[in-house]
Amino acid sequence: MSANSDTGGKPVVTRFAPSPTGFLHIGGARTALFNLLFAHHHGGKFLLRIEDTDRARSTQPAIEAILDGMRWLGLDWDGDEVFQFARAERHAEVARQMIEKGAAYRCYLTQDELAAMRAEAEAAKKPLRIRSPWRERENNDANAPYVVRLKAPTEGATTIRDQVQGEVTVQNSEIDDLVLLRSDGTPTYMLAVVVDDHDMGVTHVIRGDDHLNNAFRQLPIYRAMGWPEPEYAHIPLIHGADGAKLSKRHGALGVDAYRDEMGILPEALSNYLLRLGWGHGDDEIISREQAIEWFDLAGVGKSPSRFDLKKLENLNGHYIRAADDARLADLVAQHLPFDLTESQRDLLQRGMAVLKPRAANLLELSEGASFLFRTRPLELDEAAAALLEGDARALLARLHAALDGVEAWDTEALEAAVLTVAEDAGVKLGAAAQPLRAALVGRKTSPGIFDVLALLGREESLARIADQMTVPA
Ligand code: GLU
Repeated sequence: MSANSDTGGKPVVTRFAPSPTGFLHIGGARTALFNLLFAHHHGGKFLLRIEDTDRARSTQPAIEAILDGMRWLGLDWDGDEVFQFARAERHAEVARQMIEKGAAYRCYLTQDELAAMRAEAEAAKKPLRIRSPWRERENNDANAPYVVRLKAPTEGATTIRDQVQGEVTVQNSEIDDLVLLRSDGTPTYMLAVVVDDHDMGVTHVIRGDDHLNNAFRQLPIYRAMGWPEPEYAHIPLIHGADGAKLSKRHGALGVDAYRDEMGILPEALSNYLLRLGWGHGDDEIISREQAIEWFDLAGVGKSPSRFDLKKLENLNGHYIRAADDARLADLVAQHLPFDLTESQRDLLQRGMAVLKPRAANLLELSEGASFLFRTRPLELDEAAAALLEGDARALLARLHAALDGVEAWDTEALEAAVLTVAEDAGVKLGAAAQPLRAALVGRKTSPGIFDVLALLGREESLARIADQMTVPA
């Protein structure tokens, strides 16, 4: 843990504050990761707040999808998750306190008056910035409906020293009297975020740079309440390979699709997301422990990073090769369209050593492993069938006889037997291996043929070869 100047010596508290959309967005996952790494780097806490005020979208499955995605990626949060909707009464209480302090006011503008202001702004080609006449006025009609607005500062400027964006200044005349409480008494996002961050003790707000403008509208609320202001770090969004903002047409947006449809390991996605927008020299493979030790906001770039599927697959291949065989066998078993018996499960695990160097994702790994469980006689694909044309079936018969005579069924003995047949037949080893592969795997590609023989075992190997020795009727 390094003593860092960017925390000002306070114990660090960060948070991830997703609004449930039905999945954990890949950009959200990166935001959560940065928050976690920053907090842990400083020995602080990483909290989770579910911003569930949109009642139509915030269904239980939508919330579960976020929690599930975070658990899968190892983005474990400290303490219980906070639900924003449940805190509405607290938000309203703060709005009332702001009215008492003269930092907010009841605004009685009608829909018609608002529409007229909007039309006027449009005609003048100016953004609508509401300064309500009710800023300085009381209404004697106690029953008139109202919203509560921030009495935004009108003069001077606000400067944020953002830890990623640098110094950003906005003229206060640009900040409008935004609504804090709607006419039905429910809080707006702008109010709820600030109250929750304050009550949760958040010291560092690390989030997407689409929220930078909001920071200027949220700071007046901190100031009105006399609350300590957080440090801000607004990180650039993720763009697609074409440079446009990441959208559905660039591929998957939810982390679950990377897991379920693309067979990506969580540590690979986590490593990839870390490198996307943050760097530590040329290091590519970075473990979680290492990331916690190294992570800092200074290493976050200012420009949007581009999502590169090829890089993710390369990393994934690395993590598959490094993964424990038993774990991989369990993951592959989930991708197979049938249940494995105990002995099949063992076979799958034994096969990992030769299968995993060839796979960039779990789907490829499953596909590569599937020959182990094919039922006889194997259905050969076209390329494999072509390997059995000409003299190949006769050669298979000679290989069968030689292999049948092998005593110890290990790769060395198997290789010696096949080599002898190849020499006798006057062909290269590869020429003997190809029909063998077709018979044993039903495909043109597979792990090394002696590994295949060893994995399948004597009985199954000989039976599969025998199946192909004669031309099928
Ligand atoms: N709920 C907001 C979102 O999902 C994030 C709010 C924040 O981080 O301040 O975009």
